[in-house]
Amino acid sequence: RELWIELGERSYPIIIGDGLLNRLPQALSDRGMGTDGDLFIITDENIAPHYLSGLEAALKEQGYTVNSFVVPGGESSKSLKWYENIMTEAIQLGLDRKSVVIALGGGVVGDLAGFVAATYMRGVRFVQVPTTILAHDSSVGGKVAVNHPLAKNMIGAFHQPELVLYDTATLLTLSDREIRSGLAEVIKHGLIWDEAFLNWCDEHADALLKLDAESLSYALYRGCEVKASVVSQDEKEAGLRAILNLGHTIGHALEAVAGYGELLHGEAISIGMVGSARLAEELGYPATIVERTQSILERYGLPVRIPKHLDTDAIMAAMMRDKKFKSGQMNFVVPVEIGKVEIQTGISPTLVRSIVDDLK
Ligand code: NAD
Ligand code: ZN
Repeated sequence: RELWIELGERSYPIIIGDGLLNRLPQALSDRGMGTDGDLFIITDENIAPHYLSGLEAALKEQGYTVNSFVVPGGESSKSLKWYENIMTEAIQLGLDRKSVVIALGGGVVGDLAGFVAATYMRGVRFVQVPTTILAHDSSVGGKVAVNHPLAKNMIGAFHQPELVLYDTATLLTLSDREIRSGLAEVIKHGLIWDEAFLNWCDEHADALLKLDAESLSYALYRGCEVKASVVSQDEKEAGLRAILNLGHTIGHALEAVAGYGELLHGEAISIGMVGSARLAEELGYPATIVERTQSILERYGLPVRIPKHLDTDAIMAAMMRDKKFKSGQMNFVVPVEIGKVEIQTGISPTLVRSIVDDLK
């Protein structure tokens, strides 16, 4: 499957399919990235043992000069420290403007490598080879970043890839939890934009959880397509793009309070999406939205309740610290029907608090 993302003046393909990894050399040259530019692959220690040497060999065989950098697995690698280490390596290798940075990994590697590509010599070409389901989300939109110790994603840029090559076979080595968590974002794309796709996700839950290649490739394709529809209408985050944050206001607060690691991102937003549906119900929208949201998430084995030991005060405080809230007013993305969301402003913190308590 191939999907072209059109953003402003630029466009790039997302190619999705089973066993595509060894087609990277061809895809690079098709996109004008020939062997005159050195390749710099950035990946992490959990991915490298499975896929790195095969990919390097395939590229070298076609005449590419390939260098690789492996960071530790996990969010802590999205840091200025690892960014600097990678920059040091890039300079020592003598990489120049013709070089291409390749992210082989999930959202962490994608964001980190993307920020390297955006800033090395004021920007070099960037290619994504996503290896998680969640990374379908980060492969569209061009947001790249590292974290600051005080706040996530605070240091970043917009930098679009030249190409995204998504091999569904690489997803087979993901843990069961990572699979479910990534699928939460796929479900989110159905909830915000496309009831028919949500129904499809419901019907194909077993196939997706078993990582059936054909079903996965459609789910990732449609997820990317929905995100692209939203982002292309709002590339620099003026308004519409906020609907992608369904479930994220509560979800980010839960992640922060639980300490990163206890709840995976998709698990946190799963709970957050149920919270937003509850909020919709309180605002007068049909209760069936809550039932439908909850039942599909449960079918995917995703959590729909806030772990009891997480303190409500701490969750509320984390939400109020969120940069999106000005002067005590809360804004929320709420589902007003299945497949359609709206941004509701001026939500009272008391109401949100009662929903948080209820969700425990
Ligand atoms: P991740 O990249 O940390 O991957 C999750 C875990 O799975 C890691 O331990 C990783 O080493 C391992 N892993 C990855 N691929 C594997 C494979 N094929 N086989 C075995 N193990 C594998 O996490 P993620 O969930 O992919 O991404 C989360 C990050 O994405 C966050 O930092 C988030 O901020 C970012 N993100 C960015 C955007 C964006 O628009 N730029 C959108 C959504 C999320
Ligand atoms: Zn998310």
